[in-house]
Amino acid sequence: MPELPEVETIARKLRPHLIGKTIKDADLRWSRTLAFPSPGKFRERIKGQEIKEVTRRAKYFILRLSEYSLLIHLRMSGDLFIKGSKIKPEKHDRLIVRLLAKDGGLSNLVFTDTRKFGRIWLTANPEDVLGKLGPEPLGKGFTSEWLHTALHKKHRQLKPLLLDQTFLAGLGNIYTDEALNLAKLNPLAGSDSITVKQAEALYEAVRQVLKVGIRRNGASIDWVYRGGEFQNYFRVYDREGKPCLVCGTSIQRIVVGQRSTHFCPKCQVR
Ligand SMILES: [Zn+2]
Repeated sequence: MPELPEVETIARKLRPHLIGKTIKDADLRWSRTLAFPSPGKFRERIKGQEIKEVTRRAKYFILRLSEYSLLIHLRMSGDLFIKGSKIKPEKHDRLIVRLLAKDGGLSNLVFTDTRKFGRIWLTANPEDVLGKLGPEPLGKGFTSEWLHTALHKKHRQLKPLLLDQTFLAGLGNIYTDEALNLAKLNPLAGSDSITVKQAEALYEAVRQVLKVGIRRNGASIDWVYRGGEFQNYFRVYDREGKPCLVCGTSIQRIVVGQRSTHFCPKCQVR
């Protein structure tokens, strides 16, 4: 499942191919991919919109258009591609946006999604969708002081709390496990037991794993997301039974809140 670094990498890759292009029309091939508005209104409103900005918030890919914003959440298996002018739609293509360049050149932005969990919104008020998200971990609103206070307001285990997008936005299973290991914190530790020093370590760790993830173009752990290299630098994720890079103890895998969780039982003592 693409997390913040994967979505950021996709946005950076696609940006030069999208900015300044005008949307000729859109072919919605699986209507349930569209969360808002109705398919009819979607086709009508998107036509003629110019792409002003290509950005990201948490795991949402965002195209700021002349009047609207097109928000795409890739969820489990979504991916985005730029393709040439003449394309034959493929089985898992859910949305094809036809683009016109200022020099008359044509291209297509294709949203493909085998498992169909991905969602799209076209809205004049992106905050309707994004408003409930917690702070952006690489943004200014996220500080170690905020994190310490926020952790103490909750009485939850660290792992599920960090996955909660309304608490902090953008982390998924991989980067949460990596950040907790780097901060030497147990995934099952109670959020209200975290000291100021531990909150500082967690703050630094979250930012570091995300930044390294972006630098490595994200992590490619399955056939969905390609081209990333961060999987070669995992400290704990997907390393069950392998030695901890710090102390040599076998990495353990447990299930927390139905999510597979990897940690070093020695470095991350509860
Ligand atoms: Zn260790």
